[in-house]
Amino acid sequence: MVERSIETVLAQAIDAIDPATGGVVPPIQPSTTFARDDTHELVGDHVYSRYAAPTVDQVSRVLATIDGGADALLFSSGMGAITAFFATVPRGAHVVAQRVMYHGAQDWLRHLDARGDIELTLCDESDPAEPMASLRDDTAVLWIETPANPTWTVVDIAAAAAAAHRVGARVVVDSTVAPPVTTRPLELGADFVFHSATKYLNGHSDVLSGVLVAAAYDERWEEIWTVRKQLGAAPSAFDAWLLLRGLRTLAVRYARSSASAATIASHFVDHPAVEAVAYPGLPHHPGHGVAVRQMTGGFGGMLSLLVEGGFEAAQRTALATRVFITATSLGGVESLIEHRRAVEPPHSVVPENLLRLSVGLESVVDLIDDLEQALSS
Ligand SMILES: *Cc1c(COP(=O)(O)O)cnc(C)c1O
Repeated sequence: MVERSIETVLAQAIDAIDPATGGVVPPIQPSTTFARDDTHELVGDHVYSRYAAPTVDQVSRVLATIDGGADALLFSSGMGAITAFFATVPRGAHVVAQRVMYHGAQDWLRHLDARGDIELTLCDESDPAEPMASLRDDTAVLWIETPANPTWTVVDIAAAAAAAHRVGARVVVDSTVAPPVTTRPLELGADFVFHSATKYLNGHSDVLSGVLVAAAYDERWEEIWTVRKQLGAAPSAFDAWLLLRGLRTLAVRYARSSASAATIASHFVDHPAVEAVAYPGLPHHPGHGVAVRQMTGGFGGMLSLLVEGGFEAAQRTALATRVFITATSLGGVESLIEHRRAVEPPHSVVPENLLRLSVGLESVVDLIDDLEQALSS
């Protein structure tokens, strides 16, 4: 059979046709428990849905395929996947993460560090040499987020993974903002990819879910499976089914969001009310060169505007939009705007005048007009 491209895998959701009816959409199998026959053999492949379940397995197969992994494990949220991963890190292990990254994940790492469960080093991801310089001979995990939320700093996955492997560390990439239609971290040397499937993968702001994809099916991976099973962070069948539905349009959603975000970034780059635009697709962005190599299917729908006038002006602008919805989260069909500093913890290094935009699928003309009127409010 011909090797199928990622767009085809997504659109057809691998084996989605229901063998029982010919339906081109798979049925939901919501059962929590699975019967045995009169010889005590299981009728199917499943026992109990906290361990594994048919609809969850189906979407996991698609996720493993599009990221080019040996296996994928779905969780009830992105943080469920992150906390499960760090539950398998040996006690006292040295972990390197970024100063700027998803704050919920960083807060959890700080918590583990404060408890003495790990020893955390936060590196300055805006300096290309720093993630490597922070590695030690005993570093167990390098956690990369690229583009890094919400400054969209680009980290060179291949270079960082090579350096981490020289000291024997495992590399995990939070690729939530760069789904596999644009970046495939396992092909660049990462050991695991993480996505908050709540964002682009589902894309409709109606499912909370997370996924870990492993390059190899090894002992560590088995331990992650055990943690999910024992901690109970398994997704529901309905959420898995919705995620499978959302994934089928990922490639077109991401392409459209990328095109609109690029148009918005270029439009506001020289705007008098805007001090700077952070977007990996802009040629002057510090990570643009790496992004061209690493984000082969578009630079995404996430960008930030650093507005003139500081905290107050940023807040006023976010509240004055009429098309962009003022809300947290990202990667959905509807465009969102958020004044990050107002919701970040006190130790945050995110600039006070930064507005994070998640560009959805509306008319780009409407989105630009909306930002223009909000900036002049
Ligand atoms: C949202 C998000 C997470 C956490 O995922 P949840 O599904 O909200 O638990 C982790 N990393 C990034 C980059 C995110 O945007």
